[in-house]
Amino acid sequence: MKEVLLLKCGEIVLKGLNRKSFEDKLLGNIKRRLKHIGPCRVEMRQSVVYVWIEDGTDADAVVDAAKKIFGIALICRAAVCEKTLESMQQTAETYLAGEIAAAPSFKVETKRGDKRFPMTSIQVSQHIGGELAHQYPHMRPDMHTPALTIHFEIRDTYAFVHAGPTPGAGGMPVGTNGRAALLLSGGIDSPVAGYMMAKRGLELIAIHFFSYPYTSERAKEKVIELAEILTAYTGRMPLYIVPFTHIQEAIRDHCPEELFTLIMRRFMMRIAEALATQAECGALITGESLGQVASQTMPAMAVTGAVCEKPIFRPAIGMDKEEIVQIARKIGTFDTSILPYEDCCTVFTPKHPNTKPKLPRILNAEDELDIDGLVDEAVRGVEILYPGKNKKQEAQL
Ligand code: ATP
Ligand code: MG
Repeated sequence: MKEVLLLKCGEIVLKGLNRKSFEDKLLGNIKRRLKHIGPCRVEMRQSVVYVWIEDGTDADAVVDAAKKIFGIALICRAAVCEKTLESMQQTAETYLAGEIAAAPSFKVETKRGDKRFPMTSIQVSQHIGGELAHQYPHMRPDMHTPALTIHFEIRDTYAFVHAGPTPGAGGMPVGTNGRAALLLSGGIDSPVAGYMMAKRGLELIAIHFFSYPYTSERAKEKVIELAEILTAYTGRMPLYIVPFTHIQEAIRDHCPEELFTLIMRRFMMRIAEALATQAECGALITGESLGQVASQTMPAMAVTGAVCEKPIFRPAIGMDKEEIVQIARKIGTFDTSILPYEDCCTVFTPKHPNTKPKLPRILNAEDELDIDGLVDEAVRGVEILYPGKNKKQEAQL
């Protein structure tokens, strides 16, 4: 039986004059993300995206991929049929056989997009509803709280049959709000932060600070894996691996221990901003949450943010760890995030970190370092990876 996905757009419907460019972006994103699964034709009509699933294409995989594309509010997986009452009823009986067998009550709802169709929506619902009630006496007609709603949509060329929509990923199409740089550690919070901002329409690059040999190849592999999981939501996301060892050693050798983390984080922000500028990103994103650790107190964040001109987005700032974990589980990053490899933040951690830092003291300590030289060296040493690129599954991202 031929299947189609009807994807109903979310917020972009509101976007007045920009609507066309929003829709184009969404359509492009959908085509790129579905291409690797198998042939399907994608088109937009009246703010509904039609994904025609060709024979041989794995429809379940298409649905799974579509559920991760931002800008889609609802997904209806439907069977395609002729625009006749007989064909519509028969298709419903076959396509929804499992649902019909299990439902104690039902109703039929019809949408008639094609006004040339000779019956009204209500007449169609009444006619087919009556037939089904007769044939399947275990299903009680119930107009208010039916266990199963059988939907018919009568459009230009075909009619569609489905059992109702499931929620899409919501948000806005990736790329419609510009590009930003995600500081991606191997932890739980930063992948969630990336997911949250991609949901608001940001295209991402990811930046990871890597302190070999203090942090291992396994730790790097873990970050690549997290980035790969994220690309199902973000689309193509280059991963910049920044060599961070020299900087950490220089701080260890020349700065007071209790300021180590803060000075290190200021280097991260400087380097991230330089890379963000190169990659035409308008903001930085971190997974910080107020008060979660010593370097995430309000004064600490003021001191680390002070080296940047670009805005820093911290979408997890007001969230409890448990709330962040819930999202991490939902998007599939949690199990990878908790693998026990070290992060560069845990190398040379001070025993008594300063939670109420004063900027003059930090500036004083940084005087001992060749800041520009160290930043330049790190930026020049960056390795850029394309997570998922080698996997056939994600080759088209
Ligand atoms: P996460 O769970 O994301 O690692 P965290 O609670 O462990 O966060 P920190 O280690 O203090 O917090 O890091 C705060 C933020 O700084 C991270 O969310 C991330 O955005 C960024 N960050 C930390 N370490 C790195 C790293 N090695 N590479 C890139 N960004 C990092
Ligand atoms: Mg971390």
